[in-house]
Amino acid sequence: MSKKLDVTLIPGDGIGPAITDATVRVLEAAGASFTWDRQLAGMAAVKEHGDPIPEATLESIKRTKLALKGPLETPVGKGFRSINVALRKEFDLYANLRPAKTILPKSRFENVDVVLVRENTEGLYVGVENYVKIGSDPHAVAQSVAIISRVGAERIVRYAFEYALKHGRKKVTIVHKANILKYSQGLFLEVGRQVAKEYEGRVASDDKIVDACAMELVMRPDKYDVIVTTNLFGDILSDLTSGLVGGLGLTPGANIGYDCGIFEAVHGTAPDIAGQGIANPTAVMLAGCQLLDHVGDDARANRIRAAIESVLREGKTVTRDVGGSATTEQYTDAVIARL
Ligand code: NAD
Repeated sequence: MSKKLDVTLIPGDGIGPAITDATVRVLEAAGASFTWDRQLAGMAAVKEHGDPIPEATLESIKRTKLALKGPLETPVGKGFRSINVALRKEFDLYANLRPAKTILPKSRFENVDVVLVRENTEGLYVGVENYVKIGSDPHAVAQSVAIISRVGAERIVRYAFEYALKHGRKKVTIVHKANILKYSQGLFLEVGRQVAKEYEGRVASDDKIVDACAMELVMRPDKYDVIVTTNLFGDILSDLTSGLVGGLGLTPGANIGYDCGIFEAVHGTAPDIAGQGIANPTAVMLAGCQLLDHVGDDARANRIRAAIESVLREGKTVTRDVGGSATTEQYTDAVIARL
């Protein structure tokens, strides 16, 4: 990577500033050429601007098309817009990419290495919901509509196959419930199989019903490589795969659209340990690696991943949540020393 790329940096709330600082240190020590445009969101932005996702932050992401984001506290109460929904809509972030890989020794499984690609804009999360009144009960029936479009299904499945090709992955599994939800899930599967045909000979593929997939992931996660699925199933299965490798604290997540990518940790602001200097910055560091992958700097991303893995596997200088006593800063120094 030669040209310096502008990246919007949202430190976030709670432990956010500490773990994003740690990540910036690691990226810079590894020689990544980013210029950071620091912007506010979450409670930090509410305090300053009265809006959890101010225009200036959106403008910055529109310009840079890349953001590294710390966890944000969504203010409770009506009148505040949901930050994630606002970002997803504004930038049409249709792909949620959640890799889960065993790093910690003595994890439940030794060889988990699954990348889950979740459709992020359609399905049951489109927000088309209503109540039906019967007699005097205004909430006698509730309905939520699942929307799957051919265009939406095609772009996410294609994203998964392209990801597999680019990252040397062997197989994509299309996960669905087409046996029961014949229209919405049926369309997803139909489109998925069509796209899979185009990749025949380059990337293997199969499909699996979501309940069978959930059981198999818990028993034989090594059977899976890349999974692509609809919004609700992806939401649930991605937490399941995080659980297989030691929890949300080690899992990054990328939200990707046609020309914009937002990279973050999957965990929240950890208010119980904020300000104590003991937060584990691994998930945001791994999100930084996803950012590097996204801009084509895979070699640097893999170097940082190797340094993180080596420190975690050795287990001497790790934070409290993974059984050590190191501070955020000591752990970060240890990662930098292994680069
Ligand atoms: P949380 O993930 O913040 O914390 C759950 C537990 O995990 C806590 O005990 C915490 O100390 C621990 N933990 C989480 N990350 C850790 C880390 N990096 N190092 C060490 N320990 C860590 O979940 P929560 O308490 O349910 O949520 C707190 C706030 O975060 C809420 O306001 C919620 O809305 C927000 N949140 C934001 C995001 C996001 O911005 N992407 C995601 C989830 C939750």
